[in-house]
Amino acid sequence: MRDDVKQLLALQNTDQKIQALEAELVRIPQLQDAAKDRLANDTLALATAKSNFQANEIEIKNVELDVGTRKNTIDRLKNQQFETKKNDEYTKLGEEVVRYENEVDKLETRELELMETADDLRSRITEAEQNLTKTQRLVDEEIAELQARLDERKAGLTETKTTRETLVIQVDDEDLLDTYNRLYNKRESQAVVRVTSERSCTSCHVQVTPATYALAQSGAAIAYCDNCSAILFP
Ligand SMILES: [Zn+2]
Repeated sequence: MRDDVKQLLALQNTDQKIQALEAELVRIPQLQDAAKDRLANDTLALATAKSNFQANEIEIKNVELDVGTRKNTIDRLKNQQFETKKNDEYTKLGEEVVRYENEVDKLETRELELMETADDLRSRITEAEQNLTKTQRLVDEEIAELQARLDERKAGLTETKTTRETLVIQVDDEDLLDTYNRLYNKRESQAVVRVTSERSCTSCHVQVTPATYALAQSGAAIAYCDNCSAILFP
């Protein structure tokens, strides 16, 4: 292989490496964001569990208020009953007391049910908190790993770019370097490629002429693919 082609091939390897590293520098933060998004479901589940518990607490308070109101009413009725001298009024008030006492019974039963629900809802909050903590830990670990990878790739990129500068200096022919750069972008990172023994260009996969193939083999001058202009080596 000609020295200049060898240099360009090394440059191409470096450019491909830079390209891959730059793609990772874009992709890794996206993965970090995706990891953070995984917390959203667990965070929402915890908020829902807390608000369900709160709603139940409010219902308990309301039931307690209702019980209180009815107990006051019962006291009032009992006083009226104590003070009345009319038999039928006494009976009527007694019936009212029983009616309110029944209501209090029902409300107290309801309160017990709500308190059982509260226990259940409280344990759901604990469960949701545990899930969130677990996910948080996993996500933190994942983000930290990705960060380490990101830092490593950044360092690798700086190093590879330095290597590229060294390689560029070695190419004496400015025009050749320009041609290479243009081809590299145009041929999707396949500017310097092997021509197979079947005379096939491995960049565009079209067969080159026997003359081009012979030139690539002899190395008397740089051989370019007849179809895509890629720089060929045997
Ligand atoms: Zn070609």
